[in-house]
Amino acid sequence: MSLTTDLGGRIELVSMDPHFHNISIALYRQKTSQGAVFLVHSYSGKEGTQQRIEFVASAMTVLGGMETLPREPQKLRFPCQVEHRLACRRVFLEACKLDPNAPLEARPLSILDKKSSRTISLSYQGEGTYRLTADGEETDKAGRISAVAGGLMKLGEMQTVDAAGDRVAFSCGQPHHALVGLLLIRALNVRAVFRELEMAASRGVLSAPSAQK
Ligand SMILES: [Zn+2]
Repeated sequence: MSLTTDLGGRIELVSMDPHFHNISIALYRQKTSQGAVFLVHSYSGKEGTQQRIEFVASAMTVLGGMETLPREPQKLRFPCQVEHRLACRRVFLEACKLDPNAPLEARPLSILDKKSSRTISLSYQGEGTYRLTADGEETDKAGRISAVAGGLMKLGEMQTVDAAGDRVAFSCGQPHHALVGLLLIRALNVRAVFRELEMAASRGVLSAPSAQK
């Protein structure tokens, strides 16, 4: 079996790695019987590429709460074994951006939202559900919470739980603390994230037929 047929379909690409010789690194979705498995891969022949790839994958385990497959440090999945494809692409992009010399730790479940000058927090309610709260005065609070909840739904393919708009859930019904903490940062300004994705798509990096299986 050749390496190429092993890769699967490419779903995300960092065309110039800022932390390792501008190599390109791609994320593939593999066809496998072991649940939804993703592969981090680079065609670069530069010495140290393998270590860089393994660093990105291990950063994904911390930032996204993913796990590597036994003896296959480039392959990852979520513990729930559900795909969460869009969320996994986000984890990959953030892992590639991360300064390798900075401490590697999961993001917290609360964050200062500069737009509203409030701290927005997520609390786990069981069954894959998180509730958003914000501190400070009541004026416009519910609107900002539902905007951030909407960002999480878009970025993490999460679902709304009830009409109040302050609870969002993963379809698998499992907790994903690290993942939702990572998504929370971007959910504060989801429009910027989608601009970034659209620009990548318009450059054709996600649709090169030669890279698709
Ligand atoms: Zn899950």
